[in-house]
Amino acid sequence: MLKFCSLFSGSSGNCIFVGNGETNILIDAGVSGKKIEKALNEIGESGTSLTGILVTHEHQDHINGVGILSRRFKIPVYANEKTWEAIDREKLLGKMPAENRRVVSAGDTVNVGSMRIKSCRISHDAADPVCYTISSEGHKVGIATDMGFVSDEIKTILRGCELALVEANHDVEMLKAGKYPYQLKRRILSDSGHLSNESAAELVAMLAKHGTKRFILGHLSEENNYPKLAYEAVNSVLKIKGFDTEKDIFLRVAERDCPGDVILL
Ligand SMILES: [Zn+2]
Ligand SMILES: [Zn+2]
Repeated sequence: MLKFCSLFSGSSGNCIFVGNGETNILIDAGVSGKKIEKALNEIGESGTSLTGILVTHEHQDHINGVGILSRRFKIPVYANEKTWEAIDREKLLGKMPAENRRVVSAGDTVNVGSMRIKSCRISHDAADPVCYTISSEGHKVGIATDMGFVSDEIKTILRGCELALVEANHDVEMLKAGKYPYQLKRRILSDSGHLSNESAAELVAMLAKHGTKRFILGHLSEENNYPKLAYEAVNSVLKIKGFDTEKDIFLRVAERDCPGDVILL
């Protein structure tokens, strides 16, 4: 059995739990260690049961609690070489003991306990950002946020997932009309920025066509999106493509500040 829960999601911090009982991992730990411990307890887990933390990229909303949790519970942290370099250059994680560091190459498959983890490069304004799929006991889940666009590689790696957490960062019109400075709007809309609701809908529809039945929309902008808007953008495209989101497809929007549904596969 594979247990999945988005603990925090959005520009204020991201953290996802995936566990099979024997191996339990976090994908990113972007809020304080304290908050993550509390959220883990709420879903019946704890810091001591963690086997590893996978880092997607070095932005604060993905690594805020990584150093604390890793040191407190002696948890290995997995990131690629360029991400480690960026973390070390800016001293983003405080003192990281050498024994807690694991270097994985972007695009590689590694074993973490009894899970197989595959990473894939994504286009985002960080050193070497990646998305991940996690496979265990015949189940496969995928997590893809912080990407300017959906590359063919991302589509390929996510295909066949039972569950996918996909970024639905912004509504393009809200972003354009909103109060962000022009440069920031350009950054978000660029190929190395964030995924819009429309692009998320396209990706979700493609994955649904290939058999994925559970979707969580995540990393919503607080300024340029609403949970309802993101949900409707994706739901309407799924409906047009002939999927019934009340019967065939499980579609949710991740909570920003607390654990969402615990999904058992
Ligand atoms: Zn980022
Ligand atoms: Zn982010």
